[in-house]
Order: sequence, then structure tokens, then C-alpha cells
Amino acid sequence: MEGCLFCGIVAGDVDAEVVHVTERTVAFRDVNPQAPTHVLVVPRDHYANAADLAAGDPTASAELVTAAAAVAAAEGQDDYRLVLNTGAGAGQSVFHTHLHLLAGRPFTWPPG
Ligand code: AMP
Repeated sequence: MEGCLFCGIVAGDVDAEVVHVTERTVAFRDVNPQAPTHVLVVPRDHYANAADLAAGDPTASAELVTAAAAVAAAEGQDDYRLVLNTGAGAGQSVFHTHLHLLAGRPFTWPPG
């Protein structure tokens, strides 16, 4: 989608440290990491949020999770947190679906 940062990364027009690719997803390191492993997994196609992706492309929706698990395994992380912020009020700042994979430190609950 025109002007979408993560569409730009998927297309290779915006630099990112890509760590994993699948047919439907691209995974790259978050530019402002909140944990030793902080990777974003995005669908190649543009969907604004996780619910839109699940409704529009359930296969890609599932692939976000399997890709995140593959990245965690590749980084030797057995314990990790997956986060899908949806809506500005929940902390979403980029409106192209992205699954946060966070690992490498203890996490508290409830989240902030
Ligand atoms: P959210 O707040 O859930 O929408 O997450 C957006 C994430 O994108 C944040 O964790 C940002 O640090 C990250 N981010 C923003 N710009 C870039 C970029 N150019 N490359 C990698 N990660 C980015």
C-alpha cells in the first residue's frame, strides 16, 4: 500500500534486518528493540490489523505464528512472548499487521 512503512520493507525499498522469510511473511528486527530478541513478523500483503488478516488470509495469519516460532527456535529461545497490538489505544503505531516476537529476558504479567 502506498506510503506504508512495512509494505516498503516487504518490497525491499526500506532497509531492515530481515531474519526469516516465507511465502506469505517477512520477519525483521525491530528498530527499537524491547528485548534481546525483538522481531516483527508481517504478512507480505497489506492488512491493517490482525483481525483483518485473519478474516482475509487465514493461511498467512497462521504463518505469522509458525514463522515467529521458527525465528525463536533459530535464536535458541524456548520462552517468548507474541504480541499483536490492535488500535492506537492498545499501542499500535504501524497499521500493517505485525506480530511482535519478544524473547531473551523475563516478562511480567499483566503487561503495561
Ligand atoms: P506497534 O507499536 O505495535 O505498531 O509496533 C510498531 C513497531 O515497529 C515498533 O516496535 C517500532 O519500534 C517498529 N518500527 C518502526 N519503524 C521500524 C523500522 N523502520 N524497522 C523496524 N521496526 C520499526
